[in-house]
Amino acid sequence: DNRPTSNFLKNIITEDLKSGKVDHIITRFPPEPNGYLHIGHAKSIILNFELADEFKGKTNLRFDDTNPTKEDTEYVESIKEDVRWLGYEWDNLFFASDYFEEMYKRAVLLIKKGKAYVCDLKADEIRQMRGSLTEVGQKSPYRDRSAEENLDLFERMKKGEFKDGEKVLRAKIDMASPNINMRDPVLYRIAHASHHNTGDKWCIYPMYDFAHPLEDAIEGVTHSICTLEFEDHRPLYDWVIRECEMEEVPHQYEFARLNITNTVMSKRKLKQLVDEKVVDGWDDPRMPTISGLRRRGYTPEAIRNFAREIGVAKADSVVDSKMLEHFIREDLKLKAPRTMAVLEPLKVIITNYPEDTVEMLEAENNPENPDMGSRQIPFSRELYIEQEDFMENPPPKYHRLFVGNEVRLKNAYFIKCNDFVKDERGKVIELHCTYDPETKSGTGFTGRKVKGTIHWVEASQALPAEFRLYEPLILDQEEEDDGSFLDYINPKSLETVQGLVEPGLKTAKVQDKFQFVRHGYFTIDSSHFNQDRLVFNRIVSLKSSYQL
Ligand code: ATP
Ligand code: MG
Ligand code: MG
Repeated sequence: DNRPTSNFLKNIITEDLKSGKVDHIITRFPPEPNGYLHIGHAKSIILNFELADEFKGKTNLRFDDTNPTKEDTEYVESIKEDVRWLGYEWDNLFFASDYFEEMYKRAVLLIKKGKAYVCDLKADEIRQMRGSLTEVGQKSPYRDRSAEENLDLFERMKKGEFKDGEKVLRAKIDMASPNINMRDPVLYRIAHASHHNTGDKWCIYPMYDFAHPLEDAIEGVTHSICTLEFEDHRPLYDWVIRECEMEEVPHQYEFARLNITNTVMSKRKLKQLVDEKVVDGWDDPRMPTISGLRRRGYTPEAIRNFAREIGVAKADSVVDSKMLEHFIREDLKLKAPRTMAVLEPLKVIITNYPEDTVEMLEAENNPENPDMGSRQIPFSRELYIEQEDFMENPPPKYHRLFVGNEVRLKNAYFIKCNDFVKDERGKVIELHCTYDPETKSGTGFTGRKVKGTIHWVEASQALPAEFRLYEPLILDQEEEDDGSFLDYINPKSLETVQGLVEPGLKTAKVQDKFQFVRHGYFTIDSSHFNQDRLVFNRIVSLKSSYQL
């Protein structure tokens, strides 16, 4: 069943409360601090926090930090910031590494019960001997070591007597199980590496399949929600809880991970883009990271509404990236003031307008939201319009400026083009127009009609601005099989143009959002803001063929 069922987890929880299986709800969001969060993680965050909230439960933020070589406090801090920015506050903040002592004791318990053994096989030997779906696995020659010998070896692993990869601790389950995860999975490995939290205290580290259920049980998590690829790990999850004799018994539930067209959704690959400088850091506005989306100008509301709309499914699917764009347009439609920006300026001289005069005109801030009021914008003899709003040889049905044609300047007057000036290379660099004072906007002029309305800025007061226009970073759906997604990088994912904006934007701050008439929604970029050149990111253009 591929329909998004926003409530299959709600149904489970409702049932569990009704039957008395649980009397309260605790969920957790368990990121590994080995990268910045992406929009897929946002789906998991929203799901966990909102599910618990609906049942008056709690949600913990738990760092699943059991892999010292890839983890870093920079990631810990960014993850906290991103969860808060999305609008959620955790009930408790935990680090899996704080449970290393407890996990070690549970491993010792397994050894004593004859349920775990130290194995000297190499990683690829273990993999090979575990077999495949069509053949049973082969038992390790170390499988029948005595509990005493295993306890001694495990202790010595902990003390640092062996090198990385020399020995592992494995669960003793069933080498003939049809579920390969149950064929004596590795529980502990040796890694002589400094950990961001525990430093050099440990040189053995628990594997995910052992650590995760224990973490959930220690925290009393009731519903442990993860993505579908862990469905086959659930029997092992339950085995660990049972055999380690945990008092609390959490249960694992799986949902479909979020995939989006033209979007890389893996921390490992996103890190590759950062490390190879394909992008300008984790928060590059083209990145699908939470920090990238934030810098791009996305709002938490848009992301939350998107996540709610896609819902929670039991089968994998790919969501069109246009859907995410739809939700930011929806969110900003009534919130963002509409102003005028000229991205590729062409000078216009109003030859019949007095020199050294600037008049102020009234302009509505958002026609769809009258509460946003109006502002005053300057008008004078020299203006800038968009280069594409003039054509020397216009095709039929072109209603903007050409010699002899009249258009409306938004919020101002009708102007008529009489002449133009070219530079030595033949490029049009200046228009000579006349205006009609009778046609002033807001006066109710009905004398004649024009077909085109164009936007503009007044020349002497306009502010220089840089506009960064983004296209998807990835050209095609990335290939599943190898790491070759770098072959699909869109070379035109960023285009930068220099233009002008209304003077009122002088006081705009980082993250302020605007609709630039005809161009789309923009925000002020965080890391490139300075007083003499505003830098804008285009969040999204206005046009969309997308229908919900
Ligand atoms: P990645 O493969 O990008 O590194 P991960 O699953 O390894 O992701 P974790 O830090 O382990 O990253 O993930 C934390 C939580 O976020 C997990 O519960 C995981 O299931 C969830 N999650 C990760 N990616 C997605 C996704 N694309 N859609 C929904 N949930 C996701
Ligand atoms: Mg993970
Ligand atoms: Mg990962």
